[in-house]
Amino acid sequence: MSVHELRDQMKQAGFRLSPRARKVDNNVAREIMRKLSHKEIKEEVIVSKVSKIQAPSFITVKDFSQKLEQPVTAVIKKLLQNGVMANINEEIDFETAAIIASEFGAEVEKDKQTGEQVKLGIGLVSEMIAKEEPEKFKIRPPIVAVMGHVDHGKTTLLDAIRKTNVAGGEAGAITQHIGAYQVTVGHLESAQADEVSHGEKILRSAQNDKAIRTITFLDTPGHEAFAAMRARGANVTDIIVLVVAADDGVKPQTVEVINRAKLTKTPMIVALNKIDKPGANPDRVKADLAELGITVEEWGGKVPAVPLSAKTGEGIDKLLEIILLTAEVEEIKANPEGQTLGTVIESHLSRGQGAIATVLVQNGTLNTGDAVVVGATYAKIRTMTDAAGKKIKTAAPATPAQISGLSDVPEVGDILQTTATLEEAKVIARNLQKQDRAKRLQEKKIIKADPNQKELKLIIRADMQGSLEAISDVLMKLATEEAKVKIIDQGVGEISESDVQMAENTGAVVVGFHTRVNATAAKMAKQKGVTVDLYEIIYELVEDVTQVLLSMMPVKVVETSLGRAKIKAIFRTEKSEMIVGGQVAEGKIVDKKKFRLFRDKVLIGDGKIEELQQNRIEVEEVGEGKEFGIKAKIKTPILAGDILEIYDEMVKKSNFTNN
Ligand code: GDP
Repeated sequence: MSVHELRDQMKQAGFRLSPRARKVDNNVAREIMRKLSHKEIKEEVIVSKVSKIQAPSFITVKDFSQKLEQPVTAVIKKLLQNGVMANINEEIDFETAAIIASEFGAEVEKDKQTGEQVKLGIGLVSEMIAKEEPEKFKIRPPIVAVMGHVDHGKTTLLDAIRKTNVAGGEAGAITQHIGAYQVTVGHLESAQADEVSHGEKILRSAQNDKAIRTITFLDTPGHEAFAAMRARGANVTDIIVLVVAADDGVKPQTVEVINRAKLTKTPMIVALNKIDKPGANPDRVKADLAELGITVEEWGGKVPAVPLSAKTGEGIDKLLEIILLTAEVEEIKANPEGQTLGTVIESHLSRGQGAIATVLVQNGTLNTGDAVVVGATYAKIRTMTDAAGKKIKTAAPATPAQISGLSDVPEVGDILQTTATLEEAKVIARNLQKQDRAKRLQEKKIIKADPNQKELKLIIRADMQGSLEAISDVLMKLATEEAKVKIIDQGVGEISESDVQMAENTGAVVVGFHTRVNATAAKMAKQKGVTVDLYEIIYELVEDVTQVLLSMMPVKVVETSLGRAKIKAIFRTEKSEMIVGGQVAEGKIVDKKKFRLFRDKVLIGDGKIEELQQNRIEVEEVGEGKEFGIKAKIKTPILAGDILEIYDEMVKKSNFTNN
């Protein structure tokens, strides 16, 4: 219809729009389409036989139609009328489903089960484990982090522990760094202990063979990984081994680790390293620690300290023993048969295997073939590998397992949980992706708020020429004078490395609609900090872009005059602060507001009211004719007879509805 016709019809439908309005926002547009189309197709609407249905956060058009007991074509048509392009197998989100259902006269309720799981996906592992039945808990290996100041010997110690044990009895075993490894301590009663493989030992210890115990070490001594995990609220560490070089003493990072242990209430063991060195002075380290409130056992405190040499191996056995003793006291437990939960401690993109992540299982048991959601990614686990490089089929609590088969590379600190079906995993992952995207856009806003950046540059890739045209059309229409959209390039197909390169060169954002990013391009984008966002539903794209454009809009400060007052007396004058009295001549005077100072009708300064009093009582505002006292922040000295003009400031963004 023509613009005139549309305006007329909108008026009739009860929309009030300023005659100068050129644009309406997305929600209004949807509402308009809904109201107007109602009128036209009234007869066509077959009111659904069902009045209430349940739907998860995302549902395919097909399933949704079935639940509504409506033909798929009718639902797709309704979606289109609401600005959503979706085919039979595509998913729509809960909000969209609710709108569409209401047009068929049905109500949608959130599927309770899925609601719970979505919550699980972003909850804390410890909270989830706390929900397990206590009688099902079994002792699990402790998870140990080796921390300390740089060059104090963390890597050397981790390597030494690993060498004596991981490949023990398995000549030629290729160990690989996957972010964590397990060692076994203790001897088997069997005479041929050496013939029992490392894996077998771990298994026996898991089966509560008292003669053998397992310890899991995180082998990423960098503090970055921990920082990343902490930032996401994840904490996998049961025991901290604080390495302090006995020839160097307590250093800034040593203090950091101590504070972290205190904060997270994690038990700590001190490894007094490098005792083989001539300059080693373990007692000085103990004294330094005591000053920080860490008294070692030997001196009557609670913290065990083990003198050792990571280089010669001396004292390492003792350290392992102390770790196991500490673990025993702490009663570190999990339910191996419960809900499988884990935390990602390392992840990367592998050329041959695609997205790879090392997950530390914290509860339940992980199996190959399990459907899992890992942060905003999902998988049907294809393979699992342990730190010794061996393929494993199951991973019990405290086992690090490198998994493959992931839809994308998850982040360190992401939580893994198993789901009943892959479909479910997808739904939860999708939901988290949405939240992630919202967060990213939030961050992007800050960049785009740069007053020089008045243009959102886009590179668009879509599955079909038709959708490409539709998208660029819609996006171009969102642009305004103040926030422009520039399409650098658009085309059909997958998002490739050259797209990412182009985005970096031009400062553009890559958006994909019904398409994917090839693995190398995804990796490259991550490295270069290029934003690549994928969309399945057109209005999500529109909403996201609208948000970015809004944030690019210049901020206008709007002033409203509140009142005028005449100064009658000066009580105190200090540098940039005064206490004065006066009378409101017009309007009102309001606390904490700004004012301008006039003398003989000439503007001579400006200031702010810090405190307002009436009859010596602090008040919010004083009205016309009344007397007041104020404490004001002002650089220009005020004199009796001066006039204050009090005003209010409001930050306003020009928006899409009435510019
Ligand atoms: P990190 O930065 O804490 O991981 O420290 P490294 O493990 O890289 O060790 C730093 C340096 O100290 C290396 O040159 C090691 O060989 C050396 N080193 C580590 N442990 C010992 C030890 O017990 N004795 C001696 N003499 N040198 C050690």
